[in-house]
Amino acid sequence: MPKSYSIVVLPGDGIGPDVINEARQTVDAIGNKAGFNIEWIEEAAGGASIDKYGHPLTDEVLDKCKSAHAVLLGAVGGEKWDHHTGEMRPESGLLKLRKGLGAFANLRPVMVPDALSEASPLRAEAVRGTDLLVVRELTGGIYFGRPAGREGSGPEERAYNTMVYTAAEVDRVSRVAFEWARKRSGRVTSVDKANVLVVSQLWRDVISRVHTEDYADISLNHMYVDNAAMQLVLNPGQFDVIVTGNLFGDILSDAAATLGGSLGLLPSASVGGPVGIFEPVHGSAPDIAGKDIANPVGAILSASMMLVELDEGDSAAAIRSGVELALEDGARTADLYRDGFERVSTSGMGDLVRRHALKALK
Ligand code: NAD
Repeated sequence: MPKSYSIVVLPGDGIGPDVINEARQTVDAIGNKAGFNIEWIEEAAGGASIDKYGHPLTDEVLDKCKSAHAVLLGAVGGEKWDHHTGEMRPESGLLKLRKGLGAFANLRPVMVPDALSEASPLRAEAVRGTDLLVVRELTGGIYFGRPAGREGSGPEERAYNTMVYTAAEVDRVSRVAFEWARKRSGRVTSVDKANVLVVSQLWRDVISRVHTEDYADISLNHMYVDNAAMQLVLNPGQFDVIVTGNLFGDILSDAAATLGGSLGLLPSASVGGPVGIFEPVHGSAPDIAGKDIANPVGAILSASMMLVELDEGDSAAAIRSGVELALEDGARTADLYRDGFERVSTSGMGDLVRRHALKALK
């Protein structure tokens, strides 16, 4: 009996269904060869769910997600639902999903294959070899700390937020980072501002303790956030896994996202609870929806991350190689196309990735 995983797939809106279709076909093709089977449970989320059920994510769909091995998501939103407010906005469905599944760590890998180093806004020699993963704490820190408020008036008017972390919050996110580092190059950089912030001193102490107690095989270094921002631009190739709090992670993951040259390439995951959510970083891109030109690589690499979480590491690696080899072959979707390359459609890119991934799978 082949291993079987049940995956809830939420294609969503705009280009979501196009790119998710390619991701799904890629996982099926690899699973067929590697000896596992996926039971796909397709459901609506975002605008598609508002149209079908009158809500961006129903409790029934959330329950299905809770009983699955993982959730693969496209993107949500679009003009049609822009007039909706509050919990009826398509994006509110995603918040409900992340909260309902207990996700507390956001993972954003950035890989710049050699073939794309010329497409980066940085010099090719500066980004060549970049293969890093930002692990951002998602549910704590200054975005959620209390007290927060604004009071008074005139020159005495004041506003404040509180950056707060408990040892337990730092402990659990650091374990996510160390576990992923074990499946990668075995290096973690913890980013903080411990020279100024007491909360960062706790952050650093807890990460160091977890490291000594349970992850001594991983190499750990600490870096101040100002230096980390500079190093990401000067020499991104030095990083493997970066772990950091909510605010610093928000900024650094977006800075890192620019290194590859297109939003369409970037995968992500929100994990920590019993069921992880895997989704491309990009939105529903209504400007290119239905044209068969969206780049499916972000969605395909999100599916590859899902396979890492399911402990199907060889298949995940084969998919990553498939992407690199398709790009080396010169295939480019419209977002990356330049003279001298082969322009391919969404499905054309998916086909090439699958062909190379199947060859790469031992
Ligand atoms: P977007 O990411 O959808 O698009 C930004 C730009 O990048 C557009 O020019 C788009 O054509 C391009 N792009 C995005 N993905 C691409 C891909 N795979 N291939 C090629 N080009 C790609 O962001 P936006 O335009 O600010 O938002 C559009 C809608 O998506 C809005 O409704 C927004 O709320 C929603 N959104 C959803 C998510 C999500 O579902 N996680 C994230 C961001 C935005």
